[in-house]
Amino acid sequence: MPGTFRSRLRHARVHVGGTGRIGSGVILGLHAAGVGEISCNDPQLFEREQLESCVFSRPSDLGRPKVHVLERFLDGRADFAFTPIVARNQSLKVRPYLEQAHVIVSCANDLSARLYLERMAIRLGKPCVQACAQDARTAMGGLISVWVPEANCSCFGCLFPDSNQTFRRGEILLPTVTASIGALAAQIAVELLGSKPTHCAETHNLFPLDLKTHRMEAISVNPRAGCKICGKAAKR
Ligand SMILES: [Zn+2]
Repeated sequence: MPGTFRSRLRHARVHVGGTGRIGSGVILGLHAAGVGEISCNDPQLFEREQLESCVFSRPSDLGRPKVHVLERFLDGRADFAFTPIVARNQSLKVRPYLEQAHVIVSCANDLSARLYLERMAIRLGKPCVQACAQDARTAMGGLISVWVPEANCSCFGCLFPDSNQTFRRGEILLPTVTASIGALAAQIAVELLGSKPTHCAETHNLFPLDLKTHRMEAISVNPRAGCKICGKAAKR
């Protein structure tokens, strides 16, 4: 992507997997920053409980695919292409958009879907940002991870080696927490688009947020030996 930073963003393509609160926050942040093309996928329909926290929605959006709710909101914006896909991460319909993207952002609500996107990003050699929130019943914060090719940094799979790991359902997500994580993930994606991605991830590739103490750490984690997602055997 040659040219000035602004021009680079206008010609950039980002794919976002999962358009819940964090994913939609990422999309709005990327669009506001000037990213020219965003595609996204999510198989779920928009539900009543999401009306309060998703300020871009309205009652007539109930029951529509989440990605189409965003599409309606973003319709007609200048110099911007938005492609909504009603499908899960693993769908073949999503694959061409992963191949075209300069950066992939994963905001899925289950671990296997997240790991799938991480694995695909690694196979395709694309930077991948994972953004997730903690259940407010136990903590008030979240985690953002970054993987880029050639940076020798851990991937999301290095952090969660057990792909069958299950989490307590009925989680509570605070809108201010998910908005903070979405905005920060968008900022990191913009950084990756604007500079040499390897440099970004070599410095820091893991960002745990604790919003109770208003702290964010920026740490560098090496790959885990034998990781099934980013290890040498997994890339083939
Ligand atoms: Zn790994």
